[in-house]
Amino acid sequence: MVKNLKNKKTQQPIQLSQDILYFPGHANIVVLNLGSKSLMIDCGRNITEATKIRSEAESLFKNKIEYVALTHFHGDHTHSLPLFSDCQIIASNQLVKFLKAAKRKPERNFPLVFPNVVFEEKYVIKESDSEIIIKQTGGHTPDSSYVYSPKHKLLATGDNIRSDFLWGGRHSDPDKWIFALKEYVSFDINYIIIGHGEIMKKEEVNLILEYVLEVKKMIIDFLEKNKNEKEIILKGKEIKPRGEFEVFIHDDTIIKWYKFWKKKIRST
Ligand SMILES: [Zn+2]
Repeated sequence: MVKNLKNKKTQQPIQLSQDILYFPGHANIVVLNLGSKSLMIDCGRNITEATKIRSEAESLFKNKIEYVALTHFHGDHTHSLPLFSDCQIIASNQLVKFLKAAKRKPERNFPLVFPNVVFEEKYVIKESDSEIIIKQTGGHTPDSSYVYSPKHKLLATGDNIRSDFLWGGRHSDPDKWIFALKEYVSFDINYIIIGHGEIMKKEEVNLILEYVLEVKKMIIDFLEKNKNEKEIILKGKEIKPRGEFEVFIHDDTIIKWYKFWKKKIRST
């Protein structure tokens, strides 16, 4: 089952638990109630939609969205930032660099807004009895970060995971991406909010990881045997995606990984 996510519009919010409000959409958004304040993870690409999301979350949790954490700089996750200029917008230093380099124009007459809480590698929000960890791992893009709340048993992966295809390591280091997937499955979690597609369980991510590791093993094996790109693609087709979503890897991603590991092996 391969799901087409391209035309997916924002749907009705889903309250996953007392303190978790999930907004499935083109790029998923989630708001966590931290007690006297709330945290929003990614803010979407459309200011009108983000305005609605913000007011729905603030009226349900009866507090203000004080924190906005960003998983990576892509516009479908960050374009509504101008709406959150009164919040602590948390992002990795690398994300801010990419966002500034992208030179995007905000919608209508909104001012340009950039993250105002910038971290290297890791940041922890401490708010009443919650601790939220935001960590840059790389993967989908070098600035890709996850947001993990042990209290809510929730992990947001950004685009390091989708429910249609895998593209970790296409614009970044595939080993860093695999390392991030391994870290995800080490967490105590009930909800994995992925960048695009439906909520996943840890078991699903375990199956994705198993599949990715099998593909990596094949590529390394074929590299050692000096097989060419065509042979690697053919062999890749024999390795079947697994799990509920059967998230697959495109041939050109397999070739990107092959080129990456070829270079890495030759340089060591
Ligand atoms: Zn992205």
